[in-house]
Amino acid sequence: MIPQHHILNTSIEYLKGVGPKRAELLQKELGIHTFQDLLEDIPFRYVDKTIFHNISDIYEDGQIVQLIGTLTDLKSQGVGRKKRMTGKLRDKTGTIQLIWFRGFQWIENLEVGAKYIMYGKVNSFKGKITLPHPEIEKPSNQPTEQLSLSPIYSSTEKLGRMGLDAKGRAKLLKTLFERINAQMIPETLPAYMLSKLKLIDRYQAFLHVHFPRSQNELQRAKFRLKFEELFFIQLQLVHHKLIRSSTIPGYVFSKVGDYLNAFYEKKLPFELTGAQKRVIKEIRKDIGSGFQMNRLLQGDVGSGKTMVALMTMLIALDNGYQVTMLAPTEILASQHYQSVSNFVSGLRIKVGYLSGNVKGLKRKEILKWLAAGEIQIMIGTHALLEDPVIFKNLGLAIIDEQHRFGVKQRSKLWQKSKPHMPHILVMTATPIPRTLAMTMYGDLEVSIIDELPPGRKEIKTIHKTEAARPQVILFMKDQIALGRQIYVVYPLIEESEKLDLQNLQDGYEQLLFDFPRPQYQIGVIHGRMKATDKEYEMKRFQDMKTQILVSTTVIEVGVDVPNATMMIIENTERFGLSQLHQLRGRVGRGGNQSFCILMTGFKRSKEAKKRIEIMCKTNNGFEIAEADLEIRGAGDLKGTKQSGEVELKMSNLATDSKIVQSARNIAIAILKKDPRLESPHNRLLRDFLQDNPNAIEWARIS
Ligand code: ADP
Ligand code: MG
Repeated sequence: MIPQHHILNTSIEYLKGVGPKRAELLQKELGIHTFQDLLEDIPFRYVDKTIFHNISDIYEDGQIVQLIGTLTDLKSQGVGRKKRMTGKLRDKTGTIQLIWFRGFQWIENLEVGAKYIMYGKVNSFKGKITLPHPEIEKPSNQPTEQLSLSPIYSSTEKLGRMGLDAKGRAKLLKTLFERINAQMIPETLPAYMLSKLKLIDRYQAFLHVHFPRSQNELQRAKFRLKFEELFFIQLQLVHHKLIRSSTIPGYVFSKVGDYLNAFYEKKLPFELTGAQKRVIKEIRKDIGSGFQMNRLLQGDVGSGKTMVALMTMLIALDNGYQVTMLAPTEILASQHYQSVSNFVSGLRIKVGYLSGNVKGLKRKEILKWLAAGEIQIMIGTHALLEDPVIFKNLGLAIIDEQHRFGVKQRSKLWQKSKPHMPHILVMTATPIPRTLAMTMYGDLEVSIIDELPPGRKEIKTIHKTEAARPQVILFMKDQIALGRQIYVVYPLIEESEKLDLQNLQDGYEQLLFDFPRPQYQIGVIHGRMKATDKEYEMKRFQDMKTQILVSTTVIEVGVDVPNATMMIIENTERFGLSQLHQLRGRVGRGGNQSFCILMTGFKRSKEAKKRIEIMCKTNNGFEIAEADLEIRGAGDLKGTKQSGEVELKMSNLATDSKIVQSARNIAIAILKKDPRLESPHNRLLRDFLQDNPNAIEWARIS
């Protein structure tokens, strides 16, 4: 950590050429407060002026080119607003048209017949290639100055007006490097790592990332900075994981008893999949070890996570402990309550349910029974986290669809158990790309269910536009005739809630027209309805009293109606990929062929097209998660934001996955050899961990 008085902590105001006004703007617009902030705000791209293109090689619209050639045919056309100037640049290989719509005075002063370097973005207009408004320079005698990578920094209009456009910002960095030297940017990685990994030192890395003289220099500088950033995150996570898995005591669930045995023999309705068996084994090892379990269970929608949860709960019960299971929505929680109650019926297990809607006397009673230990399995929403909820001996907490719970909320759970923290099993149906998982949950053990129960058919996903609506309606009727059920889902975005609800209402009315009563029954469900009404509608759908359920995304997570075989998503372009995948996962839960129809208008953005294409191509949640990360970048992923952000300055989880992996491997290797980092070689690393004990709050479960 850098001491307060260190030069890098100097306010940006005191850098030559900044002053109070610009400092304020830099803070406001870009969050740059100190010298260090300026140093760490690296260029977002570089203009490569090390390469000259041949005019004959120019082939595409939007290509960025640097040319050297002779200026010819300079002339102006039109007058006033219609005035423009044209010219030509000729090199050995060909000629390109130049065009200007303003700034004529300067252009008129160019020397026809002289050599110029021109730099710009190619435009093709009516099949003809032109170079509009190129940057123009005279070739200089000092080639090194021109042959370089010019850094481009982010700027804003306001900053631009104060002289801090991309160029002005580059100048600030020059000034900064005049004030600082290598001693002021101390090394953070041990010398043996630098030499073994062939990393350049930290000062050089910053210097070269701002002023690269070649691509090679730039790449090495970037790699060093990215590696450092990712390595220290991994060092913290792996360190935390090792410490916890070997020091934080937990309840010992050593035996398998009557509950699990009776369930297994009498009630289990199917053979467990290989993946389910493996994961249960992994969990049993943890909960029998004497240390607290913190495990993330990832499995695609429909992979049977609930059964794993249930069997883990029964083991806890067999050892005399209470368990709790939390779900993010009332629908999901009550559904878990129902299915768990069904599964354990006849086993003399008391299951309780609590949500914000359980009130009055009923609530009082439940709380009393829970505190007395009479309720053994407690299922509910985040209402379970509130202070009056007291357990007698909570031994295990299962959190379903965890990305909807914040870390703070979760930490309330740990306080509900004495003397130890309960074992934790976090379940998520949103597969997380490997690198993201390594970073967000890098201190958890991870189990993956990578196998669907047998007999499942791939959901067929089809994209349709409005013109095909009649066809879609016929298809729906076919499915209903086969005795199947259908979801129709509308987006609901809070900002445009009214419009969205109207949209849903219109859609519902149209459906009433296309599917007249009494032959057809349609239900509606959305987030604005009272919980009891939602439950009523849900129940009617489950009991096959309605064949079509029109809804907003309240049914996104977890809802399980195996007879539903068709998912129609309206305004598909407004949903993100992982949300679409979640929605699709509501069908394909029984043995029948299921379908997902993605409805859109005719016009679709490039991104929407990409998302639809991926959805139609694959059913695999992990593939979809990777694609999502690629399209959106890591910062945007749902869940990263809510669980407290991983703020990365240098690297990008979407594109730097290899570096994440190697940083993690190296952190593991170092900590395996020297768990407490006591070796003198590792002094810098130990210092770092001491100075940053809480820096990974966001990733921590306990
Ligand atoms: P998710 O992982 O999405 O929570 P669920 O636990 O809801 O999935 O399981 C989806 C469906 O598959 C449920 O109807 C469940 O009963 C069923 N199921 C779970 N495991 C198996 C299995 N091994 N064989 C057959 N069906 C299973
Ligand atoms: Mg589930």
